[in-house]
Amino acid sequence: MLLFRANIAHFPHATVNFGDDIQVIQDGGLVVEGGKIVAIGDYAQMRRTYPDAELNDHSGCWILPGLIDSHLHYPQTQSIASYGDQLLSWLENYTFPTEMQFSDLSHAQKVASVFIQQLVKNGTTTGLVFSTVHKEACDALFTAASQLDMALIAGKVCMDRNCPEELRDCPTSAQKDSAALIDRWHNQGRNRYAITPRFAPTSTEAQMASLGELAQQYQDVYIQTHLSENVDEINWVKSLYPNATGYLDVYDQYHMVRERAVFGHCVHLTNDEWQRMADTGATVAFCPSSNLFLGSGLFDNAIAKQYKVPVALATDVGAGTSFSMFSTYGEAYKISQLNKQPICPLEGFYMMTQGAAIAHQWDDHIGNLNSGTDADFIIVSPRYCELTSLRIEEHASFSDMFFALSILGAQRAVKQTWISGRCCYENKENNHAMA
Ligand SMILES: [Zn+2]
Repeated sequence: MLLFRANIAHFPHATVNFGDDIQVIQDGGLVVEGGKIVAIGDYAQMRRTYPDAELNDHSGCWILPGLIDSHLHYPQTQSIASYGDQLLSWLENYTFPTEMQFSDLSHAQKVASVFIQQLVKNGTTTGLVFSTVHKEACDALFTAASQLDMALIAGKVCMDRNCPEELRDCPTSAQKDSAALIDRWHNQGRNRYAITPRFAPTSTEAQMASLGELAQQYQDVYIQTHLSENVDEINWVKSLYPNATGYLDVYDQYHMVRERAVFGHCVHLTNDEWQRMADTGATVAFCPSSNLFLGSGLFDNAIAKQYKVPVALATDVGAGTSFSMFSTYGEAYKISQLNKQPICPLEGFYMMTQGAAIAHQWDDHIGNLNSGTDADFIIVSPRYCELTSLRIEEHASFSDMFFALSILGAQRAVKQTWISGRCCYENKENNHAMA
């Protein structure tokens, strides 16, 4: 049994009142055993209740739930920060050539390993991840995540048109390979599967129908794809699917708009589409750094709130420019400033922890530090350099500390990342906890 001593912040339950409902414990104690959180409270009280627990003293640091990145592409670890295109040409020029290399299993295994390391270094303990079209590349990712007992949602990309021949599957093989991966990985350990059409333009109607059948057959499996990212893309979808009333309706016609369906971007949805998202329980993955990088547009968080559609934050690596969820909130804040409706730090924190876990129906295991949940958490040491020591006062509020780290870029602030009660990453250079 381990007892962690530090300040603690998390959202114990669902809320829209972020300031009232966050639980902040100064000099807190978190008790962990057997991969689970056993108890949370004041340090002194936890020490008295669990006198035999081994102490991990991180006084002056913060314990937060492991962060959740709700949309990213593991093969694009390799093409992050490539210059100068908007969505459709970016796919042609960078994404497709990169993804072709994943027909080589050893290449896939190498990138999967780097990818998982990047997640834990940044304090991300759960991702909703797109693989490539190759079934074995998806196996490689789940295998790498399983080695850390990481709670991962992932899927093989399905696409059978408007992409290079080498990256095409077909309606039959997309269904068969996805079903085989569901049987092998879904609910095995902490893995979960997502049916993953890349986006409407790269699937024929026949493929969408075959994936829709699969979605109906496996109601508890996730669905992840892209939606209304870019204006040219939306016009293209209209020409490819003349019978659909809009972009969302393409997925809707094939039973893929529902709970556990996570739509990346949603920058240009119509009001009818927002209403339909709300009625079906679907979730938005808001990818601010990607939207800025590809010039896609400014996501309107206020309208999502108006329609009560859950919004989870996401990096969208490699069009996204950082694996850090802290930095991703920093970019979300800048977009919301341009929309004149700033997203406050506590809301940003909610969108990468408990809010995301609730949207993905997984908050009984991840996203918070309630007793009984899985022991996925991070230790953040905010005053890790001269600048942050100057900017972030020793007794700064959680909100101020979190905001400053998000704007200044916080990768080095992550001191340790714990998954299922095991330390998976330690930044040995960050020993400034007591400063
Ligand atoms: Zn994406």
